[in-house]
Amino acid sequence: MAEHGTIIIGAGQAGYQTAAQLRVKGYTAPITLIGDEAHIPYQQPPLSKAYLKGELDGDRLPFRPENFYADKNIDLRLNERVEAITPSEKTITTAKGTLSYDSLVIATGGTPRQIPVPEPLAGKTYILKTRDDADALGQALSSAQRVAIVGAGFIGLEVAATAAQAGKDVTVYEMQDRILARVASPAVSAALEARHAAAGVDLRLNEGVDFANLEADVVLLGIGGMPVQELAESAGLTCDGGIVVDGHMRTSDPAIYAAGDCAKSPTPFWSDPIRLESVQNAIDQANLIADQLATTNDAPAYHAVPWFWSDQYEVKYQLAGLIPPSTSRVQAGEGTDGLAIYHFKDDTLVACETLGNGAEHMSARRLLEHGNAAVSPADIAEHGSLKAVFKARR
Ligand SMILES: Cc1cc2nc3c(=O)[nH]c(=O)nc-3n(C[C@H](O)[C@H](O)[C@H](O)COP(=O)(O)OP(=O)(O)OC[C@H]3O[C@@H](n4cnc5c(N)ncnc54)[C@H](O)[C@@H]3O)c2cc1C
Repeated sequence: MAEHGTIIIGAGQAGYQTAAQLRVKGYTAPITLIGDEAHIPYQQPPLSKAYLKGELDGDRLPFRPENFYADKNIDLRLNERVEAITPSEKTITTAKGTLSYDSLVIATGGTPRQIPVPEPLAGKTYILKTRDDADALGQALSSAQRVAIVGAGFIGLEVAATAAQAGKDVTVYEMQDRILARVASPAVSAALEARHAAAGVDLRLNEGVDFANLEADVVLLGIGGMPVQELAESAGLTCDGGIVVDGHMRTSDPAIYAAGDCAKSPTPFWSDPIRLESVQNAIDQANLIADQLATTNDAPAYHAVPWFWSDQYEVKYQLAGLIPPSTSRVQAGEGTDGLAIYHFKDDTLVACETLGNGAEHMSARRLLEHGNAAVSPADIAEHGSLKAVFKARR
């Protein structure tokens, strides 16, 4: 019988979810949730949106109030960094000592990529990952006028929107020829570029930032993230741009699982194992681990439909599925209110991007979830939306 129970490293989205879901599923052995931040587990998405705008109080960020953990008999240890994993002894070590586990879950997340910034800008340069990062950035923005954002990915653009709405002079530097070039369709980029331009954001496309000549009060680096996998690597677990797991989130050690931003896993929605940075992915992978540890049922391999959102101004971007390198695309609507881009591979719907069209996003998710993407490009072209296709078939 399990006596040491489960240790979870990282008290973020996936770590919290694993602990909470284990109790929901009736797991009675000890659960230890160890996080190196000072705050009780909290959601990150508002950090670049409502929280940064000052529209959401800090006490609304945590997933659960502090007493939740004691009530559920979850030993939450904050301000404690796991320094080593010793798989042969099934132990982990922190500055406070060594703990034994029966099962270990690594949920250490990702970390923003950084580049060297010369003085005097170095002291005005920020990243955005944690609540402390958001507090520091928010404080700096309050007295700043010129804001330079390096990288036109989701986090950079969300901060650009927040700062522009607060009346700042915002410039975004992007090496690619369009914003969100790695993740979104050209039509989505174009619609959002127009919205940022309308808000007064100076989008410098095809332009790397020249720090030597940059004049800014605040610089934000939004140039992507990397998995936090050093602990796993030192423990001898297989890592390759993420902690490599199988379809059941098991690492190369059978007693150790990984979930969330740090994990690279197979999914039926991508040809190769992939590392995803999204709330959905962290929650669904954590749920799958909890299912296996708490019950004796054979859980099916990970097959959750990937989905993601981003809020910029009043616009909500949503993605259902993942967009492979070459898809045939069908577009319905345009602009930031009602646009939908349907991505097909061999006449099967594989992904759908929407701007301001939550109903269509949900239709796409449902379709992908049921593994029955039996809607063709011609269907969309004829009816204009998934919703209308379904209606016509009723
Ligand atoms: C500003 C921002 C906005 C976002 N917006 C969206 C959005 O709109 N939509 C969306 O789907 N996703 C969004 N995301 C992504 C989403 O929040 C992440 O994908 C999700 O939080 C990943 O969960 P995780 O548990 O894997 O990692 P995290 O939530 O990052 O948690 C990992 C935790 O582990 C801790 N840790 C690391 N190493 C150790 C160690 N050795 N010992 C102890 N603790 C350790 C870290 O400090 C951290 O607290 C956003 C992220 C950010 C930063």
